[in-house]
Amino acid sequence: MEVVVIGAGIVGVSAALTLAERGVDVVVLDRGSVGGEASGLNAGVISGGGWGDRPDIDVALKMGSRDRYLELSQQRGRDIGLDLTGTLSLIRTEEEWAWAAAAVAADRRAGRRLELLTSRELVGLEPAVDPELLGAVLDPLGARAEPVAATRAFGEEAVSAGAVIETGCVVSDLRSLAGGGWEVTVGPSNTVTGADAVIIAAGPWCAELGAMVGVDVPIVAVRGQMWASEPQPPVLRHAIGAVESSLAWSGDHPTSADRRPPNLTHRLDRRLTRHLYGRQRHNGEIIFGGDRVMTTDRTVDHEGVAVNHGHVVELLPRIRPVTPARTWAGLMPFSLDGRPIVGPVPGLDGLFVAGGLASSGFGRGPMAGRLISDFVMGRQPEFDTTTVVPGERVAPLP
Ligand SMILES: Cc1cc2nc3c(=O)[nH]c(=O)nc-3n(C[C@H](O)[C@H](O)[C@H](O)COP(=O)(O)OP(=O)(O)OC[C@H]3O[C@@H](n4cnc5c(N)ncnc54)[C@H](O)[C@@H]3O)c2cc1C
Repeated sequence: MEVVVIGAGIVGVSAALTLAERGVDVVVLDRGSVGGEASGLNAGVISGGGWGDRPDIDVALKMGSRDRYLELSQQRGRDIGLDLTGTLSLIRTEEEWAWAAAAVAADRRAGRRLELLTSRELVGLEPAVDPELLGAVLDPLGARAEPVAATRAFGEEAVSAGAVIETGCVVSDLRSLAGGGWEVTVGPSNTVTGADAVIIAAGPWCAELGAMVGVDVPIVAVRGQMWASEPQPPVLRHAIGAVESSLAWSGDHPTSADRRPPNLTHRLDRRLTRHLYGRQRHNGEIIFGGDRVMTTDRTVDHEGVAVNHGHVVELLPRIRPVTPARTWAGLMPFSLDGRPIVGPVPGLDGLFVAGGLASSGFGRGPMAGRLISDFVMGRQPEFDTTTVVPGERVAPLP
């Protein structure tokens, strides 16, 4: 069996590794480089939460991916900067506390591992925080890794297992063949490659690839942006987030007529909420980001960086003197209904999509890659995939 994977982001390279290790001939094509887009530009935060009593597909994507990073680091000996110290989501107001307490209680009823920390407990664990904060949600299984190193490590493992990765190759056309299989046209020389199956793992460009075969893949680009300080002495122990945006988004349910995904910080030009995630890297840099704007424009919005920096120093006053030394932006693949899109494209035999992992695709991509490999090989996935398969969400273009 020959499979072409379009996209060498975290989803594409982890799919390639699984397929190659199962004896499939696999070629990954990317118009840029391995991890050259969001997979190499993200904050590197990996959620944990625990498997719980009866894991659903959401839990499986997170914890299965975390397990794959652990395996990459510990069994395969790859230096991906993996750090298992957990994640804190900081709580500032009574309203945030009530919302977080309910969320943690529901999580624990499902046998999972989140913990609610009081202010005193929080300061004991992370002394850089403002002691006036009400507390935090601790995800003790939260982790982080270096995005470029981790994505490249999956790619290198895939190549060692027999996969071929070709970079600098734009896929410009896709065609199904009358007798079965697919023809993939690759620029700049317009070479044609044949395959039994094709996986579209092209991040926010999945819709462009879908349009080549007449289907609407409802994934849009959302700009995420970050800043980094100059290297600092060790000051932050955990990956850090804030409950503020989770509370704001708990009431955001766009309809299909809105043609926008949930969980954005801006609607048109208006800010809906602040959002925050970040950590201190092993090289000492403090990195944070937050804004999510629906656009394909990757220009950093410096006003947004200033809001994010202000939010950080408000919650972490001990790092007040730390200022942004460099900034960058990348495009995240958000599906319109907020659910991942992983599985076969209805009506097009041998065509698969793996995308829509939004703002947590680094933490969910390795398992999404394994899941799409199960579909390609006709294996029954271990978890109920009803909520993530394309189904009616991926329909013929009007
Ligand atoms: C600033 C920022 C911070 C983030 N922080 C986090 C975080 O802390 N934790 C987390 O879990 N997630 C985070 N994310 C989200 C995460 O990075 C993404 O969800 C994830 O990387 C998506 O992976 P992917 O493989 O689907 O897509 P991508 O990484 O976008 O890869 C898709 C690939 O497809 C290729 N491609 C596209 N079109 C074509 C074509 N026609 N021909 C050939 N190749 C093509 C592209 O070149 C690209 O390399 C963040 C994202 C950003 C931008």
